[in-house]
Amino acid sequence: MRDVLPWREAVAPDGTMGEPRARGRFGGYGGRYAPESLVEACREVEEAFREAWADPGFRGALARLLAVHAGRPTPLTPARRLSEALGVELYLKREDLTHTGSHKINNVLGQALLAIRMGRRRLIAETGAGQHGVATATAAALLGLEATVFMGERDIERQALNVFRMRMLGAEVVPVTTGSRTLKDATSEAMRHWVGATGDSHYCVGSVVGPDPYPWMVREFQRVIGDEARGQCAAELRTGVPDHVVACVGGGSNAAGTFAGFADTPARLVGVEADGGAGAARGRLGVLHGCRSLFLQDDDGQIIQAHSIAAGLDYPGVGPEHAHLRDLGRARYVTVTDGEAVGAALRLARTEGIVPALESAHALAWVIRAAGDGDLPAGSTVLMTLSGRGDKDVSTLKELL
Ligand SMILES: *Cc1c(COP(=O)(O)O)cnc(C)c1O
Repeated sequence: MRDVLPWREAVAPDGTMGEPRARGRFGGYGGRYAPESLVEACREVEEAFREAWADPGFRGALARLLAVHAGRPTPLTPARRLSEALGVELYLKREDLTHTGSHKINNVLGQALLAIRMGRRRLIAETGAGQHGVATATAAALLGLEATVFMGERDIERQALNVFRMRMLGAEVVPVTTGSRTLKDATSEAMRHWVGATGDSHYCVGSVVGPDPYPWMVREFQRVIGDEARGQCAAELRTGVPDHVVACVGGGSNAAGTFAGFADTPARLVGVEADGGAGAARGRLGVLHGCRSLFLQDDDGQIIQAHSIAAGLDYPGVGPEHAHLRDLGRARYVTVTDGEAVGAALRLARTEGIVPALESAHALAWVIRAAGDGDLPAGSTVLMTLSGRGDKDVSTLKELL
């Protein structure tokens, strides 16, 4: 399936991927659509984040945690054998090598430090597959906070291992029995719970979604991916700046963090969505979980349940900044199928000795397809963020292969 949105050659207008405009606006998207008590809580988070982000002490503490606990900086790995086969020069930014195995730890450590700065003793989080829940539980244990993780009852059944992991790390996992009993309902429930607990708890959102300041703040906490990669590319790539920068998009945090490092360069930005969770490629304007963005909806405006083999891409919408980047033409959004992602995962395993998360395999599947059909011209340099490792997906793959 080819997308039809045109490339714009131009570098983004000044300030693209900078601070959003007033009340968290990215173009016509974003905002803070929440009950009054949460609007106030979000205002406090925004103020605290603004101060912290301007404070070298906070930045230094976070950088140190990312280094000594999470394993940063992550390497930039040339995918030599695969590159040769594809006729492009592919480099992988290795978020799979972080502690807990995905980029989610970058954001969670940032928000946990912020919670402490705000005097909060507990983290509230929602989780679908359990990856963000495990990262939150990990940060809470490390920093001596409590963690309460909301998770749909169906997801609890499907992701038993991650539930056990969270409990082992000392987190409380709260089953959500409403609606489809999956991520969308867990998020609603976590927000409801926060209403009554804003005094002692910080709501730790897992992607660039939700009410302002979360889309902006989470992107800034993930910017470390793009900033590191920018320097590594300058040192190691023939072209200095890669011709293309590619990342998978669920809510869009690993992509936003990666893109942020290259927004002011001529690099072409590509976000790869799951065919069954293509908020940016096929969503319509709506409001969900405190934010105006693009969501999969039926004709009555009801949110459609997303479906992807990659649990982390199983979200029916996309962060507001991605919707804006799409409208600007600064980034383009493409989709790949479950089957293409599985094929890409296997190919990376056999050519580079890396088993990627199925989410990350979506980004690779587009690279493989685009190298084949000329969308990626021969000889292009490509930076792809490998958002996570595939250990969690081995049983899924075992059923299929
Ligand atoms: C959660 C997750 C994603 C999707 O989240 P984004 O916010 O879009 O980055 C992608 N890859 C992995 C490995 C994940 O765990």
